[in-house]
Amino acid sequence: MSIDGPMPLLLAGLIFLFWGSFLNVLGYRLISLDGIFRKYFFCPKCDAKLSFKEIIPVISWLILKGRCSHCTRTISALYPFIEIFTSVVLLTLLKLHPDYFWPYFIFFSALIITIRSDFETMLISRFATLWLVPLGLIFSYFQIIPLTFLDSVLGALVGYAFPLIIAKTFLLIRKEEGMGEGDMDLLSFIGSFTGSIGAIMGLFGASFLGLFYIIFYGLIYKHIPRKFPFGPFIAIAAILFVLFETQIWTIINSI
Ligand SMILES: [Zn+2]
Repeated sequence: MSIDGPMPLLLAGLIFLFWGSFLNVLGYRLISLDGIFRKYFFCPKCDAKLSFKEIIPVISWLILKGRCSHCTRTISALYPFIEIFTSVVLLTLLKLHPDYFWPYFIFFSALIITIRSDFETMLISRFATLWLVPLGLIFSYFQIIPLTFLDSVLGALVGYAFPLIIAKTFLLIRKEEGMGEGDMDLLSFIGSFTGSIGAIMGLFGASFLGLFYIIFYGLIYKHIPRKFPFGPFIAIAAILFVLFETQIWTIINSI
C-alpha cells in the first residue's frame, strides 16, 4: 500500500488516530475483561455510555480537560498519548515500508495494545502477544514479511528463552522477580516477526530506553521507582527496530 500527497496522508493520519483510540479500548478491555463484548464506549470508572462527542481522539480529552463529563473522575493521559503514538508510528510505517504495511500494521497494533495495558496495570494480555506468534510464523512462511521461516521460529524461541535465563539469574542473585512472564511472551511474539536479532535488540533497546525513563523519573519525583512496567519499552524498542533498522545498525557500527 502506498499513499502520497499531503491530503491522503492527513486522512490516513486521522484514521490512525481513531484506530489508536480503538487499541486503547482493547488494551483496557483485554486486561479487565470488562465489557469486552459491549458495542459502545463507556467510562471505565462510572460506566456511563459515552457519546460520539466524548470519544473523538485527542480532541475530546483536551476539551474535557482529562475528566469524565459524567463522574468528573480523571481520564488517563494514556488515551491521547496512545492515539498520537499510533498515528505517528503507522504513518512512518506507511512511508518507510509500504510493501509490508499490513503485516506490520497487525504487529504494531498488538504492541500498542501491550504498551497501553502494561503502563496502566503492569499486565500484558497473551491475546496480544504469545497467541499471535503463529501469525509471525505464517507471514514468514509465505514471505509476507522480510524474514525466513527458520529465523521466525528461532526468533520466537530465543525471544522466550533469552529473557527467561536473565530472569532466573536475577532471581538467584537478587532473590526477586526481575522480569515478568508477560515480558517473555512479548519478546517471543516480537521474535516471530523480527527474528532472533529483533528479539535480542528489543530486549537491549528496552533496557536502554528503561534507563532513560528511570533517570527522568528520578529527576522529576526525586526517587527511583522500585517497580516499573518493562513491556512498553520492549514494544517501543521493537517498533523502532522495524522502522529504523538500517540507521540503528549504522549507529551501532560507528561506536
Ligand atoms: Zn465517568
